[in-house]
Amino acid sequence: MKTIRTKSALKAYLQPLRDKNKTIGLVPTMGALHPGHLSLLRNAKSRCDIVVCSIFVNPTQFNDASDLEKYPRPIEQDTALLESISCDVLFLPDVEEMYGENEHWHIDLGSLETMWEGAFRPGHFQGVTQVVYKLFQIVQPHYAFFGQKDFQQCMVVRRLVDIMQVPVRLVICPIERSREGLALSSRNVRLSDHGLRDALDLSKALRLVRHGAKEQGLSKSKLAANALLDENPNIQVEYFAICKPDTLLEVKECEGEQLVALIAAYIEGVRLIDNMLIDCQ
Ligand code: AMP
Repeated sequence: MKTIRTKSALKAYLQPLRDKNKTIGLVPTMGALHPGHLSLLRNAKSRCDIVVCSIFVNPTQFNDASDLEKYPRPIEQDTALLESISCDVLFLPDVEEMYGENEHWHIDLGSLETMWEGAFRPGHFQGVTQVVYKLFQIVQPHYAFFGQKDFQQCMVVRRLVDIMQVPVRLVICPIERSREGLALSSRNVRLSDHGLRDALDLSKALRLVRHGAKEQGLSKSKLAANALLDENPNIQVEYFAICKPDTLLEVKECEGEQLVALIAAYIEGVRLIDNMLIDCQ
């Protein structure tokens, strides 16, 4: 695997490969890689000739300075993991390489900007689109791989691609979970064993809704899930909502074929998100 730290070196490395009609895949990450990231990378390996994994803890998408400061950065471990799955290129730029001084970025994300993650993390999606657009321009991938774990982010990136007319195919990969159901996340390493047990209640609540939706109806199963979350004093829920997957508008009863349950909560000061698709029919 090649580790490349500058935009110019990465472009120079990729251009001859593109000229030889090699298919290029991009997996953007912030590092602290876990099996969730690796599933994206394996998917990329199966579809592309050359897989570029970027690791960049993007400051413009952090609305909380201490979250940025505490974000784990185990780069040696990450490099070894990437080597082990035969990733072709690790793009590892620093902040100065990615951002000039006083850069301005704003795109119209519509209601995605002010709903759910947008509401609780002001500016977050502007930062995400800013860095993802930069990565798209540098790598010019044929395919880019994102996780359903960040459901709203996938919608935001799709909108970015539409607005800026980026010629890339997005591949959305399913959520990887621990055996007990916890959605894997780089932030999980900040939880104690106790916190990890508490965190299981998030996916339990989502499962209650998913399983109950057809039998008891949505509102009853949502009440049961809310009760489970309320009973755990170590969980501070920011939002827990059942929404249409295309608009993220909240619904009270089953409408259409598929819905998505979204949750964000703090445990031991760590902000976790998760989601699950719900079949209504
Ligand atoms: P991050 O490093 O958290 O920015 O994540 C990089 C990519 O990995 C994003 O597209 C995430 O949605 C995806 N991802 C993170 N956690 C998981 C998971 N548990 N399963 C699948 N994909 C994930």
